Amino acid sequence: MKTIIEPFRIKAIEPIRLTTPAERREVLKSAHWNLFAVRSEDVTIDLLTDSGTSAMSARQWAALMAGDESYAGSPSFYRFEAAVKALMPFRHVIPTHQGRAAEAILFALIGGAGRVIPSNAHFDTTRANIEASGAEARDLLIEEGRDPASRHPFKGNMDTARLERLLEERHAEVPAVMLTVTNNTGGGQPVSLENIRATAAIANRYGKPLFIDGCRFAENAYFIKLREPGQQSRAVPDIVRDMFSAADGMIMSAKKDALANIGGWLAVNDDTLAQGARERLILTEGFPTYGGLAGRDLEAIAQGLAEVIDEDYLRYRLRTCEYVVERLRALGVPTVEPSGGHAVFIDARAFLDHIPPLQYPGQALVAALYEQGGVRSCEIGTVMFGRQSDGSERPAMMDLVRLAMPRRVYTQAHADYLIEVIGEIAARRGDLRGLRIVEQPQRLRHFTAQFAPL
Ligand SMILES: *Cc1c(COP(=O)(O)O)cnc(C)c1O
Repeated sequence: MKTIIEPFRIKAIEPIRLTTPAERREVLKSAHWNLFAVRSEDVTIDLLTDSGTSAMSARQWAALMAGDESYAGSPSFYRFEAAVKALMPFRHVIPTHQGRAAEAILFALIGGAGRVIPSNAHFDTTRANIEASGAEARDLLIEEGRDPASRHPFKGNMDTARLERLLEERHAEVPAVMLTVTNNTGGGQPVSLENIRATAAIANRYGKPLFIDGCRFAENAYFIKLREPGQQSRAVPDIVRDMFSAADGMIMSAKKDALANIGGWLAVNDDTLAQGARERLILTEGFPTYGGLAGRDLEAIAQGLAEVIDEDYLRYRLRTCEYVVERLRALGVPTVEPSGGHAVFIDARAFLDHIPPLQYPGQALVAALYEQGGVRSCEIGTVMFGRQSDGSERPAMMDLVRLAMPRRVYTQAHADYLIEVIGEIAARRGDLRGLRIVEQPQRLRHFTAQFAPL
């Protein structure tokens, strides 16, 4: 059959409250045009993030009841640890309450002033944690990854030549090399197995550990199966194990490809690093057999890891974004191509080319999507990355709007509604205006900045 269906039935539903355009205009105004300040009851289709928004399965809900809340040595921890190690064969697995807690622990140990940590592309919390330690976060994405129209199959790849040069020039300052799979910031674009191995080989040659930010490991593995020569007949779990066997450790947000609503972990091979991490963990998260989590959360993650590598699920998952991208292309709406794993990225700078980057075309589109149809999305552009450490402003590499797809939550009818909303905006795009920032914090300003229309 050509139709790819949602490979699940719906057992429990959450009603969506429908709003009028007049209500939404009021909501936007009182939220100062920042969608992070909007209440979710006022949102029709919530594509703000795919993080922690997954629908859990009946088996995950059942697993919650099996959660053992013992402070130390809970069987839930050992089930969690075994589920992680079955896919990611690291010696030490340390649970945390989210991905950023794993980042904070890791970079407190390996970061610090004068150091530089290269990656294909650091995610925003990763960058913020590196910078909070005093170190520099350096993105070394391949050229094609920065061109929204390039159809390179692995636009998340590390530019290994630039990595080599950085290590040659500043190896003493580099404590570790990182890879984010898939590249969230650049469009949910995958990293090839070949690139993971090449990056590991370069890091190893300089005696540096490779850490994978594995938030979307399953989506990345399925892209490898679909697109990388020689991988088509391989099982997804085998590809996953190959990806992580090349690395020395990982950070993970279980709110992504562990299909859980909370959780994360840090995994490493190095015994000394693991000991330092566990000491910090006790200080900030909890005892090493629960980290920042309840026993039931560890159970939900363990079951989620067994479900996320299912190929029927992954085929449906990747097809969701591909479908939206195809339909938007037909409407003449520029998106990052080829489609990514967890999100559709509209190229707002090209779509609203009458709005200059420092008037935030991405944020203007985010506001329009809400006003038109109650769709909540997220700017990934000059609002998120434009503020420099000296307080000045520079256009970001791209001005994108991310439509992140929660896992197993929305149906094709919701996707069709979304496409209609964007079509309506496309028909009047010339009328959209930019915004200015009236209030902003020092760091991660996109969460709390307040805007006013120009
Ligand atoms: C979400 C995410 C993180 C941070 O994880 P949280 O659970 O949100 O703290 C880190 N890296 C990437 C690539 C992510 O997508």
